[in-house]
Amino acid sequence: MFRTVTNKSGHVGRTWFPRRRCWFSTSSFLQIMDTTGFTETQLTVREAVNAVCSKFPNTYWQAHDQNATDPTDFHAALAQDGWLGIALPESLGGSGLGISEATMMMQTIAESGAGMAGAQAIHANVYATQPLAKFGSKEQLEETIPDIIHGKTRVCFGVTEPNSGLNTLGLETTAIKTEDGTAYLVTGQKIWITCAQVASKMLLLARTASPDDGRKPTQCLSLFCIPLNASSPSLSMRPIPKMGARAVAANEVFFSAYAIPSSSLIGPTEGAGFAQILHGMNAERCLLAGEALGLGYAALSKAAAYARDRSVFGRPIGMNQGIAHPLAAAYMQLEAAKLATYHAARLYDASATDASVTQHVVGVAANSAKYLAAEAAFTTCERAVLTLGGMGYAVEYDVERWYREALVPRIAPVSREMILNFVGEKVLGLPRSY
Ligand SMILES: Cc1cc2nc3c(=O)[nH]c(=O)nc-3n(C[C@H](O)[C@H](O)[C@H](O)COP(=O)(O)OP(=O)(O)OC[C@H]3O[C@@H](n4cnc5c(N)ncnc54)[C@H](O)[C@@H]3O)c2cc1C
Repeated sequence: MFRTVTNKSGHVGRTWFPRRRCWFSTSSFLQIMDTTGFTETQLTVREAVNAVCSKFPNTYWQAHDQNATDPTDFHAALAQDGWLGIALPESLGGSGLGISEATMMMQTIAESGAGMAGAQAIHANVYATQPLAKFGSKEQLEETIPDIIHGKTRVCFGVTEPNSGLNTLGLETTAIKTEDGTAYLVTGQKIWITCAQVASKMLLLARTASPDDGRKPTQCLSLFCIPLNASSPSLSMRPIPKMGARAVAANEVFFSAYAIPSSSLIGPTEGAGFAQILHGMNAERCLLAGEALGLGYAALSKAAAYARDRSVFGRPIGMNQGIAHPLAAAYMQLEAAKLATYHAARLYDASATDASVTQHVVGVAANSAKYLAAEAAFTTCERAVLTLGGMGYAVEYDVERWYREALVPRIAPVSREMILNFVGEKVLGLPRSY
């Protein structure tokens, strides 16, 4: 088990303690997925994270979804047990584990019933910190990472813009250095920024040069770790009313010559932001795939239990193959997507030390996994709603909430269509269509 320990100098860190074999007794929802083949560490993560999540029952998530209130105490509970540092270096107070374990954590959160809302309250702290941890300066890391791990600082990821959409290289928000060189002025608009209203830091991708100056488009963007000072007159935001995961706001964020210190730039020079952010994006796809799996397994568990218990025409509805077969097929789709997901996460982790695991291989695997898991989750959630009939539409039974949320991994962080474009072009060698 990982436990939080404080050494003599007051440094709080995570330490591994031997544990006995686990059987996931804390929640019946965690029993459907076949866990054969996972590492001992992944299974330990699953058990320990589920123990935290079990303190936040479905009624908690129902209420937070209905009232659109941030699950601040859920974030704090995971931070308290050190989970936000799962994939951050031990030298900075993290656990030093990989995306394979972080994906398991995110799946377990979603699968506990917290769904995408629970996952979105946490996940930017895990994936957006990857480029920061890899490319940030010592001062940046020491200033930000321990506070992120301890939950004092929440992070959001500011990439998407209304005018450029999926065409990240076309983003318009600019960061222009002041004449004295001490600051940048950020001007522009971001959209769909999850947790911006509760975050005090944003990983911001902004334009520091124009391709008109003779630079490649990929060299015109820079990544910053910026303070989000909501009281500044140069910064404003508003939440977007949305379909699901309403506990966690997604925001429009407006910058109007918003001043950030020049030390916010990640890396020694401007223009490396696109390459840096790719590092976080493959991790993000793995995490999102895990979250989709969690939604799918949660919905399938609930649907199977209901189909066993609910009796109509004098027999359980699950005795009808019209109910049983779609659920059985959904199970197989989830299991296949699970293999793809943890294969991608394993490759991501291996690529750090094994040069034969190229970024191309990781990208194909991570995109494929995100696509397959999102589709499997959506199919499963829809079937779960239909299995429960009228009760599938009732808030009390949760599947309607998960069904609404299952659209998120199909759209974000990259859409199904763009993944199909990517595989068509990069794997099949088909001409680029856009
Ligand atoms: C709940 C939620 C949370 C989010 N959180 C964040 C966040 O924290 N930070 C952040 O930066 N972003 C966030 N996003 C944004 C998300 O990453 C984008 O919505 C997503 O990348 C799609 O971009 P878009 O909405 O601009 O779609 P568009 O680019 O407008 O595309 C619209 C549709 O057209 C299709 N399309 C576009 N071009 C092509 C093409 N060449 N070929 C085929 N189809 C194409 C797309 O696949 C899509 O179906 C979030 C979104 C949601 C819904």
